[in-house]
Amino acid sequence: MYDVLIIGGGPAGLYAAYCLAKAGRSVAVFEEHPEIGSPMHCTGLVASESFTRFDLPQQANRAALRRARFHSPGGHVLSVASEKDETVVLDRSAFDRGLAEQALEAGADIFPGCRVEALRRLRRSLVARTSNSGGEGRLVRGRLGILATGTSYGLHRGLGFQLPHRFVYGAQVEVGFEETSEVEVCFGNEVAPESFAWVVPFTRQGVAMAKIGVLASRDVAQFLARFLRSPLVASRIRPGRICSYLRRPIPVRPLSDTVADRVLVIGDAAGLAKPTTGGGVYYSLLSAELAAAAVGEALEAGDGSARFLSRYQTAWRAALGSEIRTAALFRTFASQLSDAQIDETFRLVDREPIAGLIRDHASFNWHKSVILALWRSSDMRSLLWRALMRRGGQMIGALRPSMDAYPAIELQQESAAADSLN
Ligand SMILES: Cc1cc2nc3c(=O)[nH]c(=O)nc-3n(C[C@H](O)[C@H](O)[C@H](O)COP(=O)(O)OP(=O)(O)OC[C@H]3O[C@@H](n4cnc5c(N)ncnc54)[C@H](O)[C@@H]3O)c2cc1C
Repeated sequence: MYDVLIIGGGPAGLYAAYCLAKAGRSVAVFEEHPEIGSPMHCTGLVASESFTRFDLPQQANRAALRRARFHSPGGHVLSVASEKDETVVLDRSAFDRGLAEQALEAGADIFPGCRVEALRRLRRSLVARTSNSGGEGRLVRGRLGILATGTSYGLHRGLGFQLPHRFVYGAQVEVGFEETSEVEVCFGNEVAPESFAWVVPFTRQGVAMAKIGVLASRDVAQFLARFLRSPLVASRIRPGRICSYLRRPIPVRPLSDTVADRVLVIGDAAGLAKPTTGGGVYYSLLSAELAAAAVGEALEAGDGSARFLSRYQTAWRAALGSEIRTAALFRTFASQLSDAQIDETFRLVDREPIAGLIRDHASFNWHKSVILALWRSSDMRSLLWRALMRRGGQMIGALRPSMDAYPAIELQQESAAADSLN
């Protein structure tokens, strides 16, 4: 019997496996795909802070991104350059493979091509029923379990978990592209309703390429197809085939409960992604680390009850709760901006004092500080309120569930911990 069964071999599951195996626990990771890191799951933009905060494989072919251009629907362009290497673009597949190698070296067992069909609680343990591509199944037992299934929520209900209730949708292709070092980010309801579209340049084996994608509240594949035909993009794509296509939902609100008897939920499976940008790799690694610590303590104490494991939930809420709540509320306002209001936002952001607030407070990973600074500006506040009012009563309904999802009792503790991380 294993100490811990981990379902899902993405960054969350693999990093939890690494932390637990390094601490001497016996761990099994089940990944339904035959190859770790494939199909590729995201753009791979992460804060460089991730590489100092966590113990990560360094070989994931990463390059710093220092220049970006932001496009408004009315044609206003803001160019931003940074002296700091704050953002890096990962080869996400290589990153996942590196995490797997690291976990294997620490002593974890990894079973690619092995899907967990069901996870059941017994009196003192869990049993996973797995199947492989040949249809062969087996039963594997463990003391505790971690759900790291990304946006596959098939096992949740059977274990007593709810499902995330708010999503945005992401779609992306990788194509040969003209050589450039600038990221482009485009806003507008005709381009990416309630979110944004992007061009992120990178090189593969010396060939200039780009990840071109859209995050939107609906019809993301159609918006991506339209973005690929847009003047900003179309003429710069090199003829040839599309190297990879990915389309997935991204949760923008966490589960209200992420622990149950013998089981914890981490990463996208717990709905832990940034509500502003949909970025989830950092939150996956952080929740994995916190879950591994709680699981280690539960094994030590011989207590796998939800009550004991709730220290994991307390810990992630302390680290991320107020950040997520602030960002979710900001998304609720900002997603209602009309195209004319997005243009007005660009004009405000391009001049003092808001330009200065952004310079002082913006961070790739932590958004609460800049959101609160913007909220203190009366121009920006009035713009966001006007956006909200545009939708009137509909918004009141939209706000209610997001408030319910975050119990108010942990506010003080959360903000203290979030401040110490900032
Ligand atoms: C278009 C797009 C672009 C994105 N870009 C970024 C970005 O630039 N930066 C960023 O930080 N985030 C980005 N994200 C989000 C990021 O991809 C996720 O937050 C991250 O992958 C979450 O990691 P995870 O380990 O929780 O889940 P995943 O990476 O999804 O891994 C879960 C794994 O579990 C496996 N699995 C599921 N069910 C089972 C089962 N029953 N049995 C066995 N295996 C199972 C899945 O196959 C999968 O491999 C993007 C998302 C999208 C859609």
